[in-house]
Amino acid sequence: MSAPCLFDLAGRTALVTGSSRGIGRAIARGLAQAGADVAVHYTSSQGAAEETAQEIRAMGRKSAVLQAELSEPGAGGLLVHRTREALGELDILVLNASVQFDHHFDQVTPWEFDQQVNVNFRSVLDMLQVAVPAMQRRGWGRVLMIGSVQEYRPAPKMPVYAALKCATQSLVRTLAKDLGACGVTINNLAPGVIDTDRNAQALTDPQRRDRIAARVPVGRIGMAEDCVGPALLLCSDAGSYISGATLLVEGGLAVS
Ligand code: NAP
Repeated sequence: MSAPCLFDLAGRTALVTGSSRGIGRAIARGLAQAGADVAVHYTSSQGAAEETAQEIRAMGRKSAVLQAELSEPGAGGLLVHRTREALGELDILVLNASVQFDHHFDQVTPWEFDQQVNVNFRSVLDMLQVAVPAMQRRGWGRVLMIGSVQEYRPAPKMPVYAALKCATQSLVRTLAKDLGACGVTINNLAPGVIDTDRNAQALTDPQRRDRIAARVPVGRIGMAEDCVGPALLLCSDAGSYISGATLLVEGGLAVS
């Protein structure tokens, strides 16, 4: 008889926000590979979300495709309710979707400020308020916040985005204390420069790409798949004694 796999997620149900593309998509696939049923969320890329769900179903797992514009009040909580209706009670919540606008502090418009606060922070609290109490009652749960290396190395052109990543890191630490010994952990995974659509413009110029890669101690730009192993650790029994932590997945960028 083989030893139980600490990373096995068979019988678990997950929601990954912003899983039509990029890091969210890679994590959704990774959770499904480990055995979880996974709800795929998007705001406008329906085709990409359907593709992700198809890949998950091809692995023999259940999936549902759910649209929600997370800047809208109440959309986050409703998304958790709809996940339950589609796939059953939620065991794993990955808070991945975010928006960013590249403007120095004196150029940030009120609309950009509101969008970032509403998607990157308010909807997060909203989803936690609906998802976590049920996890506590059931005695098992994993919450994974996707943060950013900008919690440590803020980019001057993203002051509101960087501040909100610090705010969600603080929320993770506060909730870790609050959740105590009920079997629910909450952690923050902070990626560095990852090759996804949001960085397409910065990374298509080969010279610029090389300059960025040279600043990363491991010597390359990250791929969305680099976040999967760390996410599996924090979303499974393997990470049951880790809570309130931030795990940097940035090739050493924060210390360079
Ligand atoms: P991405 O490729 O830009 O994908 C963003 C995802 O979020 C998509 O699924 C998108 O849905 C969804 N989304 C965007 N706006 C939304 C809104 N208003 N309401 C609901 N959903 C929305 O992102 P990524 O680069 O993979 O980043 C994923 C996470 O990692 C983010 O939290 C980001 O801050 C963090 N991060 C990324 C990097 C990096 O270098 N890429 C570095 C540090 C941290 P649609 O497909 O429908 O538009």
